[in-house]
Amino acid sequence: MRYSVLGASSEMRYSVLGASSEMRYSVLGASSEMRYSVLGASSEMRYNNAMSVETILIEPHEKLHVKCEPVVSFDKELKTLVQNLLDTVRAAKDPVGAGLAAPQLGVLNRVCIARRFVDSDNDTDDISLEDRVLINPVLLKSSQEKVLGWEGCLSIPDTYVQVERAEKIKIEAYDVEGKKFFLNAAGFFARVIQHEMDHLEGKIILDEDRAVGPVLTEEEFNKMLEQKTNL
Ligand SMILES: [Zn+2]
Repeated sequence: MRYSVLGASSEMRYSVLGASSEMRYSVLGASSEMRYSVLGASSEMRYNNAMSVETILIEPHEKLHVKCEPVVSFDKELKTLVQNLLDTVRAAKDPVGAGLAAPQLGVLNRVCIARRFVDSDNDTDDISLEDRVLINPVLLKSSQEKVLGWEGCLSIPDTYVQVERAEKIKIEAYDVEGKKFFLNAAGFFARVIQHEMDHLEGKIILDEDRAVGPVLTEEEFNKMLEQKTNL
């Protein structure tokens, strides 16, 4: 049985970053296959099957509070970092990772992955995840319209809080080969990008100018979702 809170509207369905395990099944479908694609990685990386799952730093950790340095050389080391980020975020299944930033692996460079959840065209509950590699991302525009939504973070387990984000953004960034691109994003994908770009500034969702309202544990959060479902 799917949670109606997640099934009701697509807006609600993707309204949580780092969904809990129950939500994972609601979001991804218990039996559905996750398909991955990567934008911004090099072709040899796309087909690299050697997994390298790294340890994610957990708050409180000083490296989660440092403004990161721009990438200056698009070299082999950068490709390894991007591959490690991809492998690590994909390995995060409970909760599912919506993105990951280099400082979360202890690397203080402006590199992050933002994942876009894409509905399949057919009738199944299949969701594809499109992983977008963002190097030296810069926010060019953000909409006046702000939206409040629940977020979690792989560096802050068992914690959910509401954060206000721009509904729509435009950014520029570089891919792993050093090619610049522009990206427009809206809704949940825009939220993920803003969350990850915050990490590059040393900001986390529990910061005073980010967290809005109560901070919930996963249990409290799930309870709240159930109550909303029963309304
Ligand atoms: Zn995070």
